[in-house]
Amino acid sequence: MADANAAYYGGRDPLGHAGDFITAPEISQMFGELVGLWVADLILRTGAGNAAYVELGPGRGTLAADALRAMAKAGLDPPVHFVETSPVLRTKQREAVPAAQWHDDIATLPKGQPLVVIANEFFDALAIRQYERTARGWRERMVAEGAFLLGGTDCAGEIPIALSDAELGAIVERNPAAEAITANLAGRIAAQGGVLLAVDYGYEGPATGDTLQAMSRHGYVDPLEAPGTRDLTAHVDFAMLAAVARERGLKPTPCIAQGTFLTALGIDARAAALSRANPAGAEAVETARHRLVAPEAMGRLFKVLCVRHPAWPMPAGFA
Ligand code: SAH
Repeated sequence: MADANAAYYGGRDPLGHAGDFITAPEISQMFGELVGLWVADLILRTGAGNAAYVELGPGRGTLAADALRAMAKAGLDPPVHFVETSPVLRTKQREAVPAAQWHDDIATLPKGQPLVVIANEFFDALAIRQYERTARGWRERMVAEGAFLLGGTDCAGEIPIALSDAELGAIVERNPAAEAITANLAGRIAAQGGVLLAVDYGYEGPATGDTLQAMSRHGYVDPLEAPGTRDLTAHVDFAMLAAVARERGLKPTPCIAQGTFLTALGIDARAAALSRANPAGAEAVETARHRLVAPEAMGRLFKVLCVRHPAWPMPAGFA
């Protein structure tokens, strides 16, 4: 999965109507603007004027460009750091945010200042492992010659205790890369100050279920077909991310629905202002707003979690 996604993202820009999938910042400028105001409010209330703006997997750089524009209105112009492996997307990001600095992974992020880290649809693209409960115990689901098969070793040690007695055939997922990145970043944030805001489709585990999926041209396809040419993702276990960050000394917010978060941040007021400024675009603005917040669209499946340095205040949108 890691190799397939590296090939996939490395060789194309998959975002947008002409690509394979669309993300919240590509649906509407309102998403990035509200995130930018959320960041500005948090930095100003904390008095952390030297904080850096960091994004994990910034896509086309649209979220960052919209967020930075909104932050500038609040008088903030933070240094920007992008963690991105795809050369194609780095080129797009450079067009959107020329002043950014790029990193292959989080290890080289700056050490001397607070980090405000945004990850929208990043963790879902990292490689998961799947384990299946069989009559012989827990076995890893593996892939060989284009088909799933079960490994021969016992994997009970990978299974959360709450799920160890799951029914036969149950599947448990772990995302070791997401856990490691969260743990490392949490260590940095505990030492330097800051927060990590994660937005993604996901759930609050422990839970069973196969969430591996492949998208091509805005539709679901077979995840084993044509590796490296489809977007492979899995749902994110936000309870696991919160637990990993808490272990490193950070404070998690509740994990809430994207619709609740964006509504609390004022998406209705922003949509009304955009429509007043350009009445011809009002219908498109309302369609985008609905898509981002409606429970039957992205509003409920997408979740928002923030983990913060214990001395940083509760961020907006969660209370
Ligand atoms: N945040 C953007 C893009 C989401 S797509 C948006 O909301 O539109 C996933 C992004 O993560 C892409 O930019 C992809 O190139 C990047 N990515 C995937 N795996 C990565 C990895 N292991 N390290 C760094 N970036 C990665």
